[in-house]
Amino acid sequence: MAAVNSPRQVAVLGATGSIGASALDVIARHPGQMQASILAAGRDVDGLLKLCVRHRPRHAAIADPALYPALRDGLRDAGLPTGAHAGAEAIDALAASDDCDTVVAAIVGAAGLSSTLAAARAGKRLLLANKESLVLAGELLTREAARAGSEIIPIDSEHNAIFQCLRSRDASEGAGVRRIILTASGGPFRGRSRAELEAVTPAQAVAHPKWSMGPKISVDSATLMNKGLEVIEAHHLFNVPGERIDVLVHPQSLVHSLVEFIDGSTLAQLGLPDMRTTLAVGLGWPRRIESGVSGLDLLTQGRLDFEAPDLDAFPCLRMAWRAMEAGGTAPAVLNAANEVAVSSFLQGRIGFLSIPALVDHALSTLPCARADTLETLLAADAQARRITEDAIARLPNA
Ligand code: NAD
Ligand code: MG
Repeated sequence: MAAVNSPRQVAVLGATGSIGASALDVIARHPGQMQASILAAGRDVDGLLKLCVRHRPRHAAIADPALYPALRDGLRDAGLPTGAHAGAEAIDALAASDDCDTVVAAIVGAAGLSSTLAAARAGKRLLLANKESLVLAGELLTREAARAGSEIIPIDSEHNAIFQCLRSRDASEGAGVRRIILTASGGPFRGRSRAELEAVTPAQAVAHPKWSMGPKISVDSATLMNKGLEVIEAHHLFNVPGERIDVLVHPQSLVHSLVEFIDGSTLAQLGLPDMRTTLAVGLGWPRRIESGVSGLDLLTQGRLDFEAPDLDAFPCLRMAWRAMEAGGTAPAVLNAANEVAVSSFLQGRIGFLSIPALVDHALSTLPCARADTLETLLAADAQARRITEDAIARLPNA
């Protein structure tokens, strides 16, 4: 951990993405208090180089090793002293290194697991946006974080809201919580029937009405799989069983989630839908710091609506509950099949309704095994990816 008064050293993994941009925006508002010391991205070298010029980190890493020369030469040509690194193992090592005390885990998908785990094992403050790592290996990740004294601050807006609400009670009073209520915007297709979803396009699916996010999570929001992943995420983060986690559709996305306590109190966190708020909570906690997000004017907003999710039109949410109840490797299978299906949908290879069909296929086909080790989970992930790819290859239009 950083010594008192020395600036927070932040590794932003997934720096070129939507969460990465929000994190860097907040960090840049607090020069002297924090700095981006490590930046990592998947394949976007040009985007990463631009960020290096702007934020002057000590290290920059690109996941794809083939892009190492481009990163190294680009840093040199820009006259930057930033060290160049490549490959997933280099990102893991940087996340665990002394060059950061805080890690923003904002890589998308299961690809983010190993660096998230490395940061947790090294006892870093972990600003966890990469929900897939919790879905895939929630027990392992939370156990390792607790063992190493790594403080996990959820960045997902719902979980960040719950994190804040839970700070109002005695932490030893686990039993004080009756229910967690995750809000969901309902995505771009809220109110449509299943039949009306048949022909929706990737462009329509990624056009989220309230949040500006990367393509994968945007499609997850459109299928409601995002909320399903978040139910599993909440279960691991807050140690609450699935039957005490509810989902409430709230199209305005101003109430970010609620916690009901046994005394009848319900606390909610509200704010504009801008991820810089949750990142500022993570970066500043327990202090409140400026995020660049303005306050919420409820008079201008006018109204807050709530409705039940439509599980027939959006069966992914039900499947996530099913996978969580089954436990073991089932959530890893759900997540992997979904990643493959969403990627194929974004490439125009399959239709929107094939996403739930493929996830269902993987969950029904693969046996649910106990998940004691990381190897078991990664094997289940790989197997689910394989059978989903095979199923896609057999689809008529793929
Ligand atoms: P994004 O697609 O905008 O960005 C993804 C980032 O990950 C990019 O920087 C990309 O280069 C990097 N990346 C991809 N594959 C990589 C790999 N193999 N190794 C290293 N880096 C890799 O995605 P996003 O919307 O910023 O979402 C990131 C994560 O945060 C996801 O897990 C998402 O579910 C979660 N999240 C995002 C939001 C949001 O508002 N965007 C909200 C809640 C949670
Ligand atoms: Mg969320």
